[in-house]
Amino acid sequence: MMHENRRCGHCGAPYVYQSSGHGCNRADNDGTYCPSCKTALNATLKTIPRVFECRYQPITAIPSLSHITLEECLAWEGGRSGPKRIWPALTNPETGDSQSIREVVATEPDGRVVARLRLSTWSKTDEYVIEAPMEWDLRENRFTGRTWR
Ligand SMILES: [Zn+2]
Repeated sequence: MMHENRRCGHCGAPYVYQSSGHGCNRADNDGTYCPSCKTALNATLKTIPRVFECRYQPITAIPSLSHITLEECLAWEGGRSGPKRIWPALTNPETGDSQSIREVVATEPDGRVVARLRLSTWSKTDEYVIEAPMEWDLRENRFTGRTWR
């Protein structure tokens, strides 16, 4: 558990910021603002509706990514090192089939990252889904066509 003495970026009051350990995720614990100012900020932000969020969309619906194949994804999966996300997956108890959902970093031959895709495969069937993180417009309830960055 790490505690640091800080000075609030708004009111100027000294306060103790907890940078790690149990309780560091408290809503009023912040590296920039004291608990009092952070509580006021949180209350104000709650009154401002969110406009966009990240949702995964199958690449078959995304013209700029629809050409990507499963074979390319599997090749990228073996290539790039570094932290990759995995997601909770399903198991079919009747067939013993299990799903694997993980991040695949799509890259150009020169190493440039094209997209961070989500690949879902099953152990006993050839079913798979490739998805990309896309921007979802919460007011219009639709994808905007922009990638989520
Ligand atoms: Zn303050």
